[in-house]
Amino acid sequence: MSAAPRIYQVAVPTPLYRAFDYLATVSLVPGARVQVPFGRREMIGVVLGEVAQSELPASRLKAITQPLDAGAILPPPILALLRWAADYYHHPLGEVIHTALPVRLRKGRAPVVGGVKVWMLTHEGKAVDPQTLKRAPAQKHMLEALAAAAEGLNAEQLAKVSQRSAAALKALRSKGWVSSHQRDSPPVTNGNLPSAPELNPGQKSAVTAIVAKLDGFHPFLLHGVTGSGKTEVYLNVIEQVLAQGRQALVLVPEISLTPQLVVRFERRFRAPIAVLHSGLNEQERLSAWVRASAGRAPIVLGTRSAVFTPLKNTGVIVVDEEHDASYKQQDGFRYSARDVAVMRAAREKIPIILGSATPSLESLKNARQRTYTLIELPERTGSAVMPQVRLLDMRRLKPSEGLSLPLREALADRLKKGEQSILFLNRRGFSPVWMCFDCGWVAPCKRCDAQLTLHQKKQKLLCHHCGAEQEVAQRCPSCRGENLHPLGEGTERVEGALEKFFPQARIERIDRDSTARRGALEEKLRRVHEGEADILVGTQMLSKGHDFPNVTLVGILNADQGLYGTDFRSSERLFQLIMQVSGRAGRADKPGEVLIQTWHPDHPLFAALQRHDFHGFAEFALNERRETGYPPYSHLALLRAESPTPGAALEFLQEARTLAVRLSPGEGVQILQPMAAPMERRAGRYRAQLLVQSNQRAPLHEFLGQWVRQLAEAKFSKKVRWSLDVDPAEMY
Ligand code: ADP
Ligand code: ZN
Ligand code: ZN
Repeated sequence: MSAAPRIYQVAVPTPLYRAFDYLATVSLVPGARVQVPFGRREMIGVVLGEVAQSELPASRLKAITQPLDAGAILPPPILALLRWAADYYHHPLGEVIHTALPVRLRKGRAPVVGGVKVWMLTHEGKAVDPQTLKRAPAQKHMLEALAAAAEGLNAEQLAKVSQRSAAALKALRSKGWVSSHQRDSPPVTNGNLPSAPELNPGQKSAVTAIVAKLDGFHPFLLHGVTGSGKTEVYLNVIEQVLAQGRQALVLVPEISLTPQLVVRFERRFRAPIAVLHSGLNEQERLSAWVRASAGRAPIVLGTRSAVFTPLKNTGVIVVDEEHDASYKQQDGFRYSARDVAVMRAAREKIPIILGSATPSLESLKNARQRTYTLIELPERTGSAVMPQVRLLDMRRLKPSEGLSLPLREALADRLKKGEQSILFLNRRGFSPVWMCFDCGWVAPCKRCDAQLTLHQKKQKLLCHHCGAEQEVAQRCPSCRGENLHPLGEGTERVEGALEKFFPQARIERIDRDSTARRGALEEKLRRVHEGEADILVGTQMLSKGHDFPNVTLVGILNADQGLYGTDFRSSERLFQLIMQVSGRAGRADKPGEVLIQTWHPDHPLFAALQRHDFHGFAEFALNERRETGYPPYSHLALLRAESPTPGAALEFLQEARTLAVRLSPGEGVQILQPMAAPMERRAGRYRAQLLVQSNQRAPLHEFLGQWVRQLAEAKFSKKVRWSLDVDPAEMY
């Protein structure tokens, strides 16, 4: 006799704002995956719960195809967090859940940890004296590296041992000195266990304050300049959390999840940590996720989406560089991992540490209102002092290929002393404009309202907005003249100029183009660390996470970009960026110097930078926000639309506005007028946006909930691609 089927609500990844009911004869728990028929397809959904009744008659309900998990793959707290996020960001729950799962789980695969292949020395191998391999240096290096690695080395680690790793490994195997084994987590990178430095008084009181609050929700804003020892504070707090048998979740921006950081954590705790970032393959990601959720990884270190990783017993959350823009997902489910992390800590009743040298104004305001506890680390550790900041007034200095004379002299001085320099330029390629000097024509992208960037090594004009590629026009299409030239500098051009000015210098360029190949960035960073480079030129890839002790000069080439930007956050971002880049200079015992080339040396932002005065800048910026009514003094939501048809996006937004007004949102909710996006056409689509502003959160969200559901159903919405962005980070 079979039991009567029960009705379950299932979240399915569709853009619809609702769950779906299915029948099942087996008992299912919330958070378990099921395969279900959906339209003409089969999909993987997640059970939300059992319901007594469906809105549909029982005869129309379909049965699940099969259950996929015996237990909850998303435990109740995570499922509840995802529901909260779907509500807050007004995004369909099915898609939110989908985003939170590793790809393999989305596809219905089993949550198993895949094996990691490692290589170890055999008995015979251990007995070999490396000196006997003097004539085969690659084999000798590998033998030594393996001898030092008690847990073996995986392919990636082996590849770093020498250029000829593959051949050396083959040779050692054929001699029977090396064999492979399966492990369920990557081996801890070998090396000496560095002793933890003795904390300075500031760090000590920071750790004490946080550790005193381990048993409840408590948000801390840890403000400390680069090199002030924030990471050391995290490590000490985590040590205490692990001692309680609990886990730590550490979030870092995409760009700063460097191998050095992972190694620093691993060596400190002698524990395999679960690393989650976009560079992993599907199985690696799944393995890390499973080890985290089973409680087998004491520390989970990851980028944005790791905030949704289930842990068995979370004890603390750390969000490093909390101001970083990469915490905000910019498409699909547009959440802020930092904000979700704070909500997660509140729900799980644990402390959270938001760390930054330049906290976001949102977090700073929370700290000033004592919603967050502010902890300051005002000084750099040890003997390191803050770098001296000098402004180079470009109204009077004539740059040559973007480099002013004082900057070139400073570079020459560092070369002479054998110290390293960094030049920062937020623009890749050779030059941002390819122009006819006879008639003023500039090469445009055919699909965007933007100019093409010249990439000289590739001999192509590229669009940095849509990726389009064109041949470099040698004849002006407007006046038929041949007087075409590049205007302005990108990193590629500056690299060339440096080679010309300093032929003896070793130069490394670090930007998206020069590091596209897998492993290229690591190799470049290694050369910098080992003193095989004199000058680094690069984009903001340089600004974070790297610690270059021998860098004593930082030059900022085009600081003014952003001073008067269209986004209300431009100057905040500029300040953060320059502080971060400056933080690379003079970290150890050598004092550093920062030279900023600017056409606006009187701007108050620079005065604050020269004094390393974050609070002075914040005061100025917060006042500006208060006067203009922007966040953190208001809450925003942005409805965006785009369409290949000119005018269609604006038309949609007009209709959406009419609908919004009819919903008569609560007091204080303002619906502004639709506007074309600052760069209206991108990749052949015309884009527009409608801003909703409110001084209170609750009425805003009540209104948004109704509005977005009606928009999803409305006929006029079908003509465009649209999305709602709650707390938008960028206003384009
Ligand atoms: P942040 O995260 O603020 O940039 P880190 O924690 O990375 O700072 O510290 C910067 C450098 O100073 C690191 O090399 C670290 O090992 C070292 N350091 C941190 N705290 C101390 C300390 N109390 N004594 C000596 N060195 C320290
Ligand atoms: Zn011309
Ligand atoms: Zn384009």
